[in-house]
Amino acid sequence: MNTPWHYQSAREIRDAVRSGAASATAMTEWHLDRIAEVDPLVDAFTQVWRDEALAQAAAVDEKARRGDALGPLAGVPVGLKELLCTRTGTTSCASKILKDFRSPYDGTVVKRMAAADAVFLGKVNMDEFAMGSSTERSTIKVTRNPWNLKCVPGGSSGGSAAAVSAGECAISLGSDTGGSIRQPAAMCGCVGIKPTYGRVSRYGLVAFASSLDQIGPLTRTVEDAALTLNVICGRDPLDSTSADLPAEDFTAALTGDVRGLRIGLPAEYFTDALNTEMREKVEAAVDVFRREGAEIVPVSLPHANYAIAVYYIICTAEASANLARFDGVRYGFRHPAAKSVEEMYVLTKSEGFGPEVKRRIMLGTYVLSSGYYDAYYLKAQKVRRLIKRDFDEAFEKCDVIAGPTSPIPSFEFGTKTDNPLEMYLADIYTISTNLATLPGISIPCGLTASGLPAGLQMMARPFNEAALLRAAHCHEQKSGVRLGEPPVA
Ligand code: GLN
Repeated sequence: MNTPWHYQSAREIRDAVRSGAASATAMTEWHLDRIAEVDPLVDAFTQVWRDEALAQAAAVDEKARRGDALGPLAGVPVGLKELLCTRTGTTSCASKILKDFRSPYDGTVVKRMAAADAVFLGKVNMDEFAMGSSTERSTIKVTRNPWNLKCVPGGSSGGSAAAVSAGECAISLGSDTGGSIRQPAAMCGCVGIKPTYGRVSRYGLVAFASSLDQIGPLTRTVEDAALTLNVICGRDPLDSTSADLPAEDFTAALTGDVRGLRIGLPAEYFTDALNTEMREKVEAAVDVFRREGAEIVPVSLPHANYAIAVYYIICTAEASANLARFDGVRYGFRHPAAKSVEEMYVLTKSEGFGPEVKRRIMLGTYVLSSGYYDAYYLKAQKVRRLIKRDFDEAFEKCDVIAGPTSPIPSFEFGTKTDNPLEMYLADIYTISTNLATLPGISIPCGLTASGLPAGLQMMARPFNEAALLRAAHCHEQKSGVRLGEPPVA
């Protein structure tokens, strides 16, 4: 083995543990050492569960000693986003209001990953309640991009992306409401997939916008994304929106072959809003598909321009309802100075929530209030329908839609925090996927002249993750694009 373990893929680690070439304990210790080495620079981890991780690894090794079959993620080190409910540690959503909150249960994805013999190293940073695109909204700490420590890792799953990119874990789980898996994956040079709405159970995911949220993996290879999806997807009686579909082996899609696949390029995604270098990288990726025998077809998404406006009405409306439960009564922080119930609500929320979360709660309450409901919320739902219809029509002409993940590469800290609208624009290409409940993937497609990763995004019909993985894997194998290890290595 020439590459150090921290840059091996999850599949390679799993194979080594299964074959007995390495123990889960050794893999865990290796990655804990890696965290000790690079996390002081990157600051991706918010909690490191040293003892629990070693105990989990020892249990996997014990299983191996008994001769029991090991799970598909045996001994693979995993990081979990701060909003996934775990009995171990706290589930803070990077917010003061849930700072010391301990979940009484493990979320479904957490249970499924544990049952697959993965090892949890701890939790990773995010924007408060997953609202943001840079992880600068975390109340815990600042996470830096391993490709340039002066730059943001993207968000809101910035800790998930930075941890995988810096080799601190092989897989991390993030969540994506409007781009929060794909955009940080693009900015940190990882693979990130947002599954179709309903593909993965949301039980144990602290809700931001329930009609948009999905959990998904961030990994260093497409195969690892497919392996993780195999483990976490499937019907869950505890989430009524989880789809009841037969189990699928997503690794079967990794044929390296895109002949006959129709890849659509939406004219609306290749405008002046797109940074030139990003455009060149995406076009180069499309050339790879053309060369490999895919058919490239022009498509149109005429309502693409409305996506941001629609999203910021729907997600804020849903967030204002979901976050109403954090009132100092049942969960987390309660303001100590309150002398009446009303004062407790006011003081707890005023101090417990950060400025972006408050902005969303107020916006959401406004668009749902009587007199404005029809003009904003209802109208947004209608336009959401039109956006979905655009995709239905485009998918009559193609199997996969390709374009950029983010209009810009990662940026320096503080450059967008004062202007929320500018930050919202970072998600211009990712949001429609959530509004239309489609699966979307981001894969690395090159480095800019200043050494920052660029991401290629692809989308497909609902529940056609296989097409995305097939195209992504072909690009990974045939493009010659190898970002290598980030400078923090
Ligand atoms: N950046 C977007 C927002 O701030 C998307 C966040 C997400 O997907 N969780 O809402």
